[in-house]
Amino acid sequence: MEQLNARRRYVLDVILPQVVPSSYGDAKFKLIDSKWKPGAGYTTCGGLPAHVANQLGVTDKCRAQGIVGSGLASLRDAAMMQNAWVHHDLQLRWFANDMKIEGTMKRPKPGDLYLLCSGEESAHKTNCICLSTKTKGRPAKVEHVGVIISAEGTLWKTADAGQSNGNAQCAKYCDRTFNPGTGLLTGETDGTGGRPMRRLCGWLDIDKYPFTKFPV
Ligand SMILES: [Zn+2]
Repeated sequence: MEQLNARRRYVLDVILPQVVPSSYGDAKFKLIDSKWKPGAGYTTCGGLPAHVANQLGVTDKCRAQGIVGSGLASLRDAAMMQNAWVHHDLQLRWFANDMKIEGTMKRPKPGDLYLLCSGEESAHKTNCICLSTKTKGRPAKVEHVGVIISAEGTLWKTADAGQSNGNAQCAKYCDRTFNPGTGLLTGETDGTGGRPMRRLCGWLDIDKYPFTKFPV
């Protein structure tokens, strides 16, 4: 495994353990979302990348662009506005008979902030490369955001808020299965099963974003 720079190490070793694992009711969970309560009707997943961004330090301009606002599509918009968005584009050919893939795919690195979208491939291709205010036709909704721990092979590890813990939400480390043939990454495994696979939409490359701590 390649050596991680100081910024990425800080995310994995310092920032994430501040809040993961935690559950609603814990002081740690309040750092992710201080307002959520059972029945609130929204997911807390956006609070985790927002916490990471806050801890890495953001300028007033970046703050105004929504990087720490906990919004899902606004995280992607904020990444695009600073040229830190990496769109997940399948440039691979899958040979089903041989069960093999040819080509290379850009992969996120530990600490990157990833997004899953609902998009069919066509909606993802056209609408996940522009600001959410500029989408045309059928949108590809951002369904989930979280933090990459490792993205090697097909079994990935992520840190995620918005996870279900009975009828409350929690933040935890998750195993996810990535299918390089389809570009889908298993969605939340909340213990009840049944959630569909979701598309890896892309990620905010934390080395490209102008965070103020640990300049890279
Ligand atoms: Zn997408």
